[in-house]
Amino acid sequence: IFPKSGSFSRVFHRNISADSASESNLIRATLFPGDGIGPEIAESVKEVFRAADVPIEWEEHYVGLDIDPRTQSFLTWESLESVRRNKVGLKGPMATPIGKGHRSLNLTLRKELNLYANVRPCYSLPGYKTRYDDVDLVTIRENTEGEYSGLEHQVVRGVVESLKIITRQASLRVAEYAFLYAKTHGRQRVSAIHKANIMQKTDGLFLKCCREVAEKYPEITYEEVVIDNCCMMLVKNPALFDVLVMPNLYGDIISDLCAGLIGGLGLTPSCNIGEGGIALAEAVHGSAPDIAGKNLANPTALLLSAVTMLRHLELHDKAERIQDAILNTIAEGKYRTADLGGSSSTSDFTKAICDHL
Ligand code: NAD
Repeated sequence: IFPKSGSFSRVFHRNISADSASESNLIRATLFPGDGIGPEIAESVKEVFRAADVPIEWEEHYVGLDIDPRTQSFLTWESLESVRRNKVGLKGPMATPIGKGHRSLNLTLRKELNLYANVRPCYSLPGYKTRYDDVDLVTIRENTEGEYSGLEHQVVRGVVESLKIITRQASLRVAEYAFLYAKTHGRQRVSAIHKANIMQKTDGLFLKCCREVAEKYPEITYEEVVIDNCCMMLVKNPALFDVLVMPNLYGDIISDLCAGLIGGLGLTPSCNIGEGGIALAEAVHGSAPDIAGKNLANPTALLLSAVTMLRHLELHDKAERIQDAILNTIAEGKYRTADLGGSSSTSDFTKAICDHL
């Protein structure tokens, strides 16, 4: 089920080198369990993968606020090299201190690995009722620049400045990815989301690049929607949208709005696509410190992210089997976590998924 929305099947060619498969013919993939609920939900993924006999060997690295005890470093060179070598990986959420402290590890990973597009499919789950039953859209977020360039400083006391960087190169690259994604996934429409009426230079350039790419895809309908109007339209009728492409900050916000349409952050997966065929899957949500360590987190978002990783590896049978087990468990309604109105723990829900395989 959901072959369309659930699929991240790659647009760019995977290039797994011979040494990334171990002698036992397992495929090596990097795993960053992350902070907060990260280790609990990463454990769910490992358990479900074991139960489904997925031929993956995890190369686990501790990246996150709970610093690596060996190196006393937030993000090690080995961790980055692991993703570069394996080309595929799964990351848990990483916490970022608000308003002070170190630069976001998520931003650092995206920059260092050049993860230029963040792909977030969002679709109504059968058997799980929300106000909408026809959501089926994909947000594609530019992932390396915009307001998230990390260029902030104090001009004089009481005045700070934050720079929004938009480049032709990054805008063309993400637009190209969005159109190619639409084409290869049988989608009809790409909407570029912007605020070019106010951000004339930056969003103006972003739109110009989207228009340029749109001309190469006459079979795909192209439209431009101002972000405030987009929010209103999404809440009124999400079925109006198919693939949405947008600069970094807008993508961050809109994708959480979309998660809300289908039942919350516990459900929505994503995948970061990088140059050279890298795919680093991660849930849309953060480290959820309010429920961390309590066996309450919903592992669905990370599990569905892991499914996208399997599709990237072209392990479609395993991906389909696991995705069906997750969605059938939720649809059945007997085992659901608290965010979906149920009373199951993370581990009981995980066991129920394994039983549905
Ligand atoms: P959050 O996504 O962690 O949590 C928002 C709300 O959703 C909380 O009430 C939380 O309990 C709930 N929630 C999130 N995931 C859930 C799940 N799987 N199951 C059940 N409930 C879930 O957002 P936040 O509280 O704004 O951020 C917490 C930390 O995470 C911050 O340090 C932030 O910087 C970081 N963050 C990281 C990422 C990432 O690693 N990609 C993304 C967003 C936020």
